[in-house]
Amino acid sequence: MPSLLIKSVWKEGDVVDVLIQQNRFYKIASNIAPEDIPLDTKIIDGAGKAIVAPFYNGHTHAAMTLLRGYADDMSLFKWLSEYIWPLEGKFTAAHIYCGSRLAILEMIKSGTVFFADMYWNREETIRAAVEMGVRATIGVTFAENLMTPESIEENFNFLKKECHHHERIQLAVMPHSIYTVGDALWIRCAEVARALGLVLHTHISETNEEVENCKRDKGKTPVEYLESLGVLGPNVVLAHAIHLTAEDVEIIKERKVTLIHNPGSNMKLGSGIMDISSLMKAKIPIALGTDGASSNNNLDMREEMKLASLLAKVKGDPKLLTAEEVFHMATINGAQAYGIDAGLIEEGKLADALLLDLNNERLIPNYHLISNWVYAADSRCIDMVICDGQIIMENGYVRDQEAILADVQKIISQVK
Ligand SMILES: [Zn+2]
Repeated sequence: MPSLLIKSVWKEGDVVDVLIQQNRFYKIASNIAPEDIPLDTKIIDGAGKAIVAPFYNGHTHAAMTLLRGYADDMSLFKWLSEYIWPLEGKFTAAHIYCGSRLAILEMIKSGTVFFADMYWNREETIRAAVEMGVRATIGVTFAENLMTPESIEENFNFLKKECHHHERIQLAVMPHSIYTVGDALWIRCAEVARALGLVLHTHISETNEEVENCKRDKGKTPVEYLESLGVLGPNVVLAHAIHLTAEDVEIIKERKVTLIHNPGSNMKLGSGIMDISSLMKAKIPIALGTDGASSNNNLDMREEMKLASLLAKVKGDPKLLTAEEVFHMATINGAQAYGIDAGLIEEGKLADALLLDLNNERLIPNYHLISNWVYAADSRCIDMVICDGQIIMENGYVRDQEAILADVQKIISQVK
């Protein structure tokens, strides 16, 4: 793998050279001497560019790009059961591959190099992620209402056989929710995740209805219910987590669980507002996710940062969730949630980065780059995307982008 040298790039107020060797940041210094640069190095002119960490999307359903705009403006349960699940039932493996490629294209173009995915036909999403050069945690998804006992066994066999599939791809155990998975399967999922050293990821306390039903049926909140089954621990990542009690927050803190905030989807589905203030006071790690494109309706993590920050402030406290804090959620916190040694532009870290065009009108004047990036910018400010030491977008172009779009147009006409 040839080395990369980004010359004279703006980094947190200084102009530096950034040398990437193999897949890590090898040296970051004000002027790297020619004798320290390997012969086969590709040199990138960083003048007028800023280097920042890229995004790590902590919760999505990539192939749901195929459902973008199909059903909007209704409640979560009605949306899932009357629209989304029936149409998804018609998808083949080829659809999932095309939808995943569309999602990854959109994510790369908006600065995301990693996504945690919960969906079906995971082999297709893995194939798309490997081919397009991004990182991913791919879920082996469990939902008893949509699966046979045989397919559940197949999932466990797949986890055991494939859990170290590819260096940029890891698997995770993903029971869909407390309302689609029963006690025994929850316990088994938790045991398998722990035994294989994998993340366990699920949706939790997304709506009032979910919480009320759980209290009626189990006599507990969803978090208390998972705690009673012995599911919660430091390998657990919970999406949404909107309707939490003070006791739930204590359990989450005690068990060192990470939460994923999905402000766009939560607002669009009318699910509620995560209590960022209390969770941050409790020092609970929170990362950001877009959720699927059918409830967002895009996969743009920069937009999600702005939504998260504005939503936190809307009740009257403008100090809540600063630009720097939400940028950390979208970058380093997301990487940490899924055990990836990245999310910072720092020697020794995995070499994932964005180059932003400092001559874009939305980044001028540059009093505070992260403020501009969170509150003012859009994806057009991204000049280059680097993942694992490889350039995966250059001058706004992603390899095969025309073919990816044409394939989706073709295949979607067959499912409607
Ligand atoms: Zn979701």
